[in-house]
Amino acid sequence: MNGTTVPDNDLLAQALEALPDPVILVDRRASVVFANGPSRAAFPSLRQGSPLAFALRMPEAVDAVERALRGEAVVDIEFTARGAVDRTFALRACPLGTARPADRSGPAAIVTLRDRTAAIKLEAMRVDFIANASHELRTPLASLLGFIETLQGPAKGDAAAQERFLAIMLAQAERMKRLVDDLLSLSRAELNAHRRPTDRVDIGTVVAQIVDSSARPAEKRGVALRFDKAGEPLVCAGDRDELLRVVENLVENAVRYGGSGGAVDLTVRRIRSAERDEIEFAVKDYGPGIEAEHLPRLTERFYRVDGAVGREKGGTGLGLAIVKHIVNRHGGRLAVESRPGEGACFRVVIPALTT
Ligand code: ADP
Repeated sequence: MNGTTVPDNDLLAQALEALPDPVILVDRRASVVFANGPSRAAFPSLRQGSPLAFALRMPEAVDAVERALRGEAVVDIEFTARGAVDRTFALRACPLGTARPADRSGPAAIVTLRDRTAAIKLEAMRVDFIANASHELRTPLASLLGFIETLQGPAKGDAAAQERFLAIMLAQAERMKRLVDDLLSLSRAELNAHRRPTDRVDIGTVVAQIVDSSARPAEKRGVALRFDKAGEPLVCAGDRDELLRVVENLVENAVRYGGSGGAVDLTVRRIRSAERDEIEFAVKDYGPGIEAEHLPRLTERFYRVDGAVGREKGGTGLGLAIVKHIVNRHGGRLAVESRPGEGACFRVVIPALTT
């Protein structure tokens, strides 16, 4: 619909064209008089002079416009346009008092649309998140309450049972603490998402620090952490605590889920070419690996390949979501390569600091 204008008023056409949301003007027969760029992008079959119904194809949307044309002041509806990707729009149809009632082809109503698809998806995610977090907290809490009742009642005075139950209660309380800590980390990472960190951080030193603190516990589980620190400092603009958290989470996962391979290799290297100057940190394990279908979903909150196993091993299901948020904040990216039976390799790539 290039070159369409509202009759007599080119300035109005320019103003409507400049709006970010779809705006369509229709005449008294609900045929299109003008459609701005966003509306043509959303509904490519919009044509000047042809009925709006041809392009929208949604009876409820067309009905709303006709109601506005019949004089109902403002009509608001929401409808979903089916397609390769379904999109939900909020539509408002509003009659226009026309200066020349005799002009049958002039604009008689204005239709504005707002794409609500992303907002609805976000809302669903928020609801899901709260349901998941409550469920994850409620399970250990129910177990704690059960044991407290037992200790107050049937197990009162049974020293052996008390000791056993207190150990279980401690484990459940620690699980709740891990979950609350991870929820706080996630919310902090989200809060800072748009503020790029500025400290100079040597990623090699960060990895060495985690290797120092994790090597012994890993060894106890039969896993050797292998890391050769590069000679030169590999510096990025970063937040040291957050980067420690990234490395810790990835190493913890490699030991927890890939530990059966007996070793975990850590590498840090600089990737420098004409187009890019980046630092890559990789954690490779030789465990069971991950099926391809799960790979794109690993960074979703509370997503676990095997829920029961993950929980039993002490995972909260939030580790990789936190990693992804922190990496994004550093302007970097996270990639996972894995084939079942061949272990998994998690790579974090962050822009290097050159000055
Ligand atoms: P959790 O806190 O449960 O470990 P994460 O977000 O860190 O949650 O990881 C999500 C899921 O990804 C885990 O539950 C596990 O199933 C899978 N996963 C992560 N790292 C590995 C790995 N190195 N090998 C196999 N599976 C892994």
